[in-house]
Amino acid sequence: MAFNIAIDGPAGAGKSTIAKRVAKELSYIYVDTGAMYRAMALYFLRKGIAPEDEGAVSAACDEITVTISSEHGEQQVFLNGENVNSFIRTEEIGKVTSTVSAYGKVRQKLTQLQREMAASTDLIMDGRDIGTCVLPQAQVKIYLTASVETRGKRRFLELQEKGAVCELEQICKDIRLRDEQDMNREISPLRQAEDAVLIDSSFMGIEEVVNEILKLVRETSDKKIQEKSVKGL
Ligand code: C5P
Repeated sequence: MAFNIAIDGPAGAGKSTIAKRVAKELSYIYVDTGAMYRAMALYFLRKGIAPEDEGAVSAACDEITVTISSEHGEQQVFLNGENVNSFIRTEEIGKVTSTVSAYGKVRQKLTQLQREMAASTDLIMDGRDIGTCVLPQAQVKIYLTASVETRGKRRFLELQEKGAVCELEQICKDIRLRDEQDMNREISPLRQAEDAVLIDSSFMGIEEVVNEILKLVRETSDKKIQEKSVKGL
């Protein structure tokens, strides 16, 4: 059985940075499920489909194929065969994604694909519903969070580094709105799974969080080996 690590948490908590590092340390595949939802949002945006129109969005789902691959440790996302990595990281796509990812048809499509990948591969998958819905059997589950202020500041610095003009206050407002939408939707809302370990990274560095997760993975693997030897397997 494949070893699966699930990382969920709100926008800007550092999930992808942390998950990428952990994946490298363990030589696991890293799957960024947010990017898959973003690729679908890009399709609706390009087609001029209003994100609020659940009927039209659901109907268009059948026209979409999302696939991923890994190149030099970086996930590449393909929308109907086109690599869309460079188009999906905008704030606009983030907002549309948060709206359309609340719809059952959109979630169904990607959840199935994510489960298929995890069934046969050791991987670390990050998103909003991985521990609660996509991989409830994951051996290690993390709920990674940080205060809105910390997440806003991190995002602000990231954007400034890229030369973007932005305001910290507006970024924090957008983060609050996205949290609100992701946590209060009917299907697969963002929440901590009962058996997930909570990590608040507000006052932690990347290394510290990575090491804490690696420790959890080691402890879980050791426990599994012990259980097997007790059973004589
Ligand atoms: O993680 P990222 O910010 O790229 O995710 C974009 C949006 O995609 C989230 O705000 C959320 O609405 C949606 N998402 C989701 N379920 C996931 C991953 C992302 O609903 N597993």
